[in-house]
Parts: sequence; structure tokens; C-alpha cells
Amino acid sequence: MNNESFNLEKRKLKREIEKHNAERVLLQLPEGLKPYATELANIIQEAGALPIILGDPCYGACDLALEEAQSLNADLIVHYGHSPWFKSTRIPTVYFAAYSKKSVKKAVMKALTFLEEYSHIGLVTTLQHVNKLEEARELLLKNGKIVIIGDTGVQPHRGQVIGCEYSNAKSIADHVEAFLILSGGKFHAIGVAIATGKPVIVADPYTKNAFSVENEVKRVLRQRWACIHEAKKAKSFGVIVGLKIGQKKIEKAQKIVEELQNAGKEAYLLALREIVPERLMQFPDVEAFVNTACPRVSLDTSSKFNKPVLIPRELEVMLEKTSWEKLCKSGWFENDA
Ligand code: SF4
Repeated sequence: MNNESFNLEKRKLKREIEKHNAERVLLQLPEGLKPYATELANIIQEAGALPIILGDPCYGACDLALEEAQSLNADLIVHYGHSPWFKSTRIPTVYFAAYSKKSVKKAVMKALTFLEEYSHIGLVTTLQHVNKLEEARELLLKNGKIVIIGDTGVQPHRGQVIGCEYSNAKSIADHVEAFLILSGGKFHAIGVAIATGKPVIVADPYTKNAFSVENEVKRVLRQRWACIHEAKKAKSFGVIVGLKIGQKKIEKAQKIVEELQNAGKEAYLLALREIVPERLMQFPDVEAFVNTACPRVSLDTSSKFNKPVLIPRELEVMLEKTSWEKLCKSGWFENDA
């Protein structure tokens, strides 16, 4: 497999296997990097360990395969594509960012057209393009922009955002008129827009294009508003506890069950690994759900579910503990609090 798109740090991988004296290695990759799995498994084998490729989907470092590694007797996890989520883990874990090798120049130059009316620009990025942040900053500066990059220390890199954590964007939102994000696709850009309320332009290094996510953000907000109103009518709620290790918030879910019961609703804890319509459809008498696991399942895929799947902050609006306006202002993401 040609790996020209990403720096897979193969030499470092071999060194890490040797350094850890690993005998059995669980290799975990997000979907976009799975095509490189066999190539990386060969390196692990050459370094003297047995590689096991995890075929299950992985959407974030919140889903670190600790339980799988334990059940397979792996003595090392190699995790590609995400920053560490946990400070320490019971099975040693080595992370590889898989930085993109794609140039950001063309995409950033195209983004300037969308940024014409703004002078103060917040610059953010996903992990894969952290290594191109400085190049993007210089291009913006050369074109007369004032560039601000947030650094709250929550993520390992300044300006970095992940799907459910935008503190590097939120911390500078009051000082910028718009954001430019280096990322593939719209997912993180939509997150920045709903976390900050600012216009967001994507510079996509993979397609070398730039675009606004304004319409998508309006659609997401319309759908969320409708879901909150629909959920108000529900008498029976399922409160979802995520089974992925970084998404398991049982105490929070229990508190929500109590809040709903105090508000005169029926509420049940529901533990799930994958929150998909087929799973929720198995409970016809549950009329709405509250999702304490990955907030992006609710925000990005709500049209796939035939019942409202609120995130905890939206439930506060439904229970009139806060207002829609305050929710829009403070952002949707618990991790940003
Ligand atoms: S909780 Fe969701 S958005 Fe956050 S890291 Fe995990 S998969 Fe990504």
C-alpha cells in the first residue's frame, strides 16, 4: 500500500515494539488508516512481536481498545490517528498521530476568498495537520490577516481540536471574526461553528479546496431545536451510557435518570457500544433518548433516528433549566466546560 498521504513513522514503530519487548501487539486504527494495517502489521512482526489487527471501527481515542487487548492477552497497544485520551493505561499504549503529508498551501489560498471580509482569523486544525499550522499561519499573515491560535493545554498541540473538545477555538472566539480550520471534510468545522457561534471556513488539504459550513450548521441547529421540542412531549426516556471506555459516564447518566423522574418522566438506563438507529428501534415504548456518550452521534446523525436523541445540555433546555439562547452561546460540548 502506498503511504504517501500520511507519515506512519515506521522506524519509530519498530523501535517502540523493541523498546517495550512486546510479544503480542494489538494494532488499532481509525477507518481512514485501516488500508495501511497489513503494512504496519508486517513491521510489528519484523520487530519480533505477534500483531493482531483490530477490525472493529474506531472513531476517537475515547475508544481505546483496552478491554480487547486484555481479552487477547496483548502486552502493547499501538494506536494510530488520535492524541492520547487517558494519562495512563493498564496496558502500555503507544500513539502515532499519522500526520498528513499533504500541502495546505492551495487550500489556504482558496480559503482567502471566503475570508475577504474578515481581518482577525482564528486558526485551528485537526491532529493530522498540526504540522502544517505554522505554514498556514504565515500564508494568512502574508495576506494581511491577523491570526490568533488558541492554546488551552487541553489538547497536546496548540490550535488542535477534536470532535467533542473545542477549547482552543472557544478560548479565542471573542477575539476573532471567523475561523479557518485545516481538516479533511466538514465534521470538525461544524463542531467549531457550533462551539463558538462564528463563521468557519475549511481548508481541506486532501481535496485542495476551501468551503464554508454555514448551511450545514444551520441545518444541524434547526434539527436540534426540533428534537428538543419533540422530546418535551415524551413520557418515557432511555438514558444511554456508552460502553466505549472514554464514553462511559454512568454517574452522569444516573443523575439524568433522577432528574427526568423528578420531572414526572419514566427513565431507564440503557448501555450501548454503538448508538445506531437499529439498536434504539428495539425499544418501541421508549419515546426519546438522552445520550451521555459521544455527542456527535446526536448532533450529526439525528435525521437517521426516528426519535429524539438529546445530549445532556439539550436536556437542560428541555427541562427549562437553561435557555436555547444560552445553549447556543455556551456551546454543546461538555468537554469544553
Ligand atoms: S466522544 Fe465522539 S467526538 Fe469525542 S473523541 Fe470520542 S468519537 Fe470523537
